[in-house]
Amino acid sequence: MTRHIQNRIKIREKQGGKCCYCLGPMVLSDKPPWKQPPNAETLEHLRRRADGGRNNRDNIALACKRCNEERGGMDWLMYTSYRRGELWELISGCKDF
Ligand SMILES: [Zn+2]
Repeated sequence: MTRHIQNRIKIREKQGGKCCYCLGPMVLSDKPPWKQPPNAETLEHLRRRADGGRNNRDNIALACKRCNEERGGMDWLMYTSYRRGELWELISGCKDF
């Protein structure tokens, strides 16, 4: 077993098999990406490699395919709040509606 796969198993255990953003349960799929279900497990770089994010353990999490695709260029913390429905609380906490 390669170190890469071992790391992935460790991360999966740490996250309890749940998506790091929406906390939904994920499934392992060996199908090609375009055939995978929305809750297929994908490897996610918290800080985009384009933004200088590195391939180390602290920067890697497992996210469902749907979140991974939907996040786009959004900051990962911002996206986590958005997926968990906390964003409106954050905003309404800052503004006096
Ligand atoms: Zn998700």
